[in-house]
Amino acid sequence: MRFDLITIFPEFFAGPLDHGILRRARESSLVEVHVQDLREFTKDRHRTVDDRPFGGGEGMVLKPEPLFESVESLLGYGVGDAQQPKVPDAKTGVILMSAAGKLFDQETARRYAQLERMIFICGRYEGVDERVAEHLATEEISIGDFVLSGGELPAVLVVDAVTRLLPGALGNEASSQNESFSSNWPAAANPPFRGGVRSLAGTQDKAAPRQTHAPGEFNPSKYELGGGRHLLLDFPHYTRPAEYRGWSVPEILIGGNHKEVANWRRAAALEKTYRNRPDLLRRE
Ligand code: SAH
Repeated sequence: MRFDLITIFPEFFAGPLDHGILRRARESSLVEVHVQDLREFTKDRHRTVDDRPFGGGEGMVLKPEPLFESVESLLGYGVGDAQQPKVPDAKTGVILMSAAGKLFDQETARRYAQLERMIFICGRYEGVDERVAEHLATEEISIGDFVLSGGELPAVLVVDAVTRLLPGALGNEASSQNESFSSNWPAAANPPFRGGVRSLAGTQDKAAPRQTHAPGEFNPSKYELGGGRHLLLDFPHYTRPAEYRGWSVPEILIGGNHKEVANWRRAAALEKTYRNRPDLLRRE
């Protein structure tokens, strides 16, 4: 996979790509990252990349010419014009980072992991000329319902999420199989959930008491339809010490009964999803 990051702040990327999984993926040539300074594609003395908005109003807008030309130079072919538009190669994504884009999620990351090349356009100021979204980018993507000052952080975030899904990126330290937002949890042979939600709560945090649910409010079996399409968050993880400041790790995890542990994790993931992200369970 090759990532190209088009930006007016090329130095921005020194750091975020140099640690952990991303660093290893680069060192082992699983991914290649190229940072492209947008100003190299300006022709005037001042290296101007922005201009005032038509129609008036605050702020500046990134001009189309340097963006089109930088993407074309990276692609090695032209994208055409209004008379003869050319569609980019299906294995290449040209992604415009934009608060007004479609929401990025794990499913999108999995789709991107199938590509061979991703070119990211990082906006600044009020954003970019809309012709970039319409005729240059293959997708316009937002990382969440909030406005940031530039597309660089959002682009790094997408690069990270995609890289860790590439075969070989995670090594032995982690797996992307059963983590948050995966829907491939094996269907339970038995009802996975015995006892109340309370019994799942391994720790009781006094400062922020864990929310418990009235009987009948949370019924995991309602969601355990086997092969259902809902997404789950990750199950809670614990490590030593088994008891810390009086808060202890759930008994079942210490017992070593694999089947019980698996059932507990499944139910705990479901409970946590219900508590923190009920919208995921309603997705079906
Ligand atoms: N006027 C725009 C915001 C511009 S912010 C609006 O109201 O929608 C400047 C740049 O930051 C954008 O061009 C985009 O590249 C980036 N950006 C800001 N918020 C973002 C988000 N949630 N997701 C992705 N990119 C974002």
